[in-house]
Amino acid sequence: MADRYLSFTGTGPGRFLSRRLGLPQPAALRRWSPERPSLDGPLLRVTAGKSGLDLAPVLARTGLEVVEAVPAGGAAAGAAGVAAVVLDASGVRDVNGLGEVHAALHPVVRSVAASGRVLVLGAPLDAGDHHQAAAQQALEGFARSLGKEIGRGRTVNLVRLADASAAESTLRFLLSPRSAYVSGQVIQVGADAPTAPGDWDRPLAGRTALVTGGARGIGEAVAETLARDGAHVVVLDVPAAEADARRVAERLGGTALPLDITAADAGERIAAALPDGLDVLIHNAGITRDRRLVNMPAERWSPVLEVNLASVLRTTDALLASGALRHGGRIVATASIAGLAGNAGQTNYGASKAGVAGMVRALAPRALAEHGVTVNAVAPGFIETKMTAAVPLFIREAGRRMNSLAQGGLPVDVAETTAWLAHPASGAVNGQVVRVCGQSLLGA
Ligand code: NAD
Repeated sequence: MADRYLSFTGTGPGRFLSRRLGLPQPAALRRWSPERPSLDGPLLRVTAGKSGLDLAPVLARTGLEVVEAVPAGGAAAGAAGVAAVVLDASGVRDVNGLGEVHAALHPVVRSVAASGRVLVLGAPLDAGDHHQAAAQQALEGFARSLGKEIGRGRTVNLVRLADASAAESTLRFLLSPRSAYVSGQVIQVGADAPTAPGDWDRPLAGRTALVTGGARGIGEAVAETLARDGAHVVVLDVPAAEADARRVAERLGGTALPLDITAADAGERIAAALPDGLDVLIHNAGITRDRRLVNMPAERWSPVLEVNLASVLRTTDALLASGALRHGGRIVATASIAGLAGNAGQTNYGASKAGVAGMVRALAPRALAEHGVTVNAVAPGFIETKMTAAVPLFIREAGRRMNSLAQGGLPVDVAETTAWLAHPASGAVNGQVVRVCGQSLLGA
């Protein structure tokens, strides 16, 4: 399961050889740890166009020193440089403004440190002004292209926002080591009044989070990360995995809930097990039954649609209708890049995961208006788990390398993204499908 190529290219001879042979050069990504919770170095703020965003107070709270110019020596290749560049391009309204994007980033992009961040801020597209819409849409192609060429574990993302304070949890996430494997994403943040948590280090304190399929893999990492953020976690998994679910729950001070999520009354049983209600619902349980459509009997089709999609719809409906999911609640469902790009041998899985994205986009505005609950999805790419360890070697190697960061993600990368979407201050992030894929080459 270990990525031996990544370890090899981390050594002197490995680096030399892979460079000489023109092979991928994955960088060791800097992830969050309690000892090193922030990126190392200052945050450079630059602007293109005439912006109306009040960014200063929010950027000041990222914990990074905000500078207006690259510190002396920081522009040289190999120098430590800046940890992040934030380009406020929300005021770009035409092609001339795009020239300012180039002028702002061209001289400084070299000075972004390894595992650093380029964050482009854009405005919502103005349907009544096709010049503004063209220029703002251009930022997507720009950010995604820069993400593919920047290398050294650096990421590039675009956030479209109308109000800086509503985007605080999003900016903090993208400007931290927690978003190490999120690149090439376009995230829309609305203008809802933000709810700042009492404590940014334990934003989920006093909240209950249920994670389906939490006994192992990505679900276990999600449970761990939500517990770190202060939540009481309920680890739901099939009765056959009860021992593992209990082990995880005990370690995290949570509760195990043995239940097959495909049960027709799963929503009612969850509500009965949590009489005080819940705040965060993570639909993580998922299965694969791969085979090409010509060879796929209904017995391999139905369980995948049942676990990955039908049960997600059913339990969501039941927990919203009964009010068990409290006002201010969060739903995070799990899609997959296989659902966005399609994957040979996975017509069942691809259909189920695309269905999850469809549910999220349609339900989000209604769930927020009627229940005060946001609905988003994470779409993992190649993540190092038992599921992907079982993939044949050649396909596994291709999956690992075919992304801008030239490596697979870790379960914790999906977990950190989930925790940002589950954050009490993320109320303005709704209906988003965020890929955690190192900017995979697959899919739009
Ligand atoms: P995994 O197989 O390691 O874990 C899935 C968990 O879900 C298991 O504990 C399993 O017992 C549980 N589960 C399955 N059916 C269930 C049911 N009917 N009721 C309750 N629990 C059930 O998988 P993983 O790799 O950790 O994946 C987690 C999620 O992420 C899945 O939805 C998967 O489709 C998605 N995903 C994973 C990858 C990846 O690279 N690993 C990529 C894209 C998407």
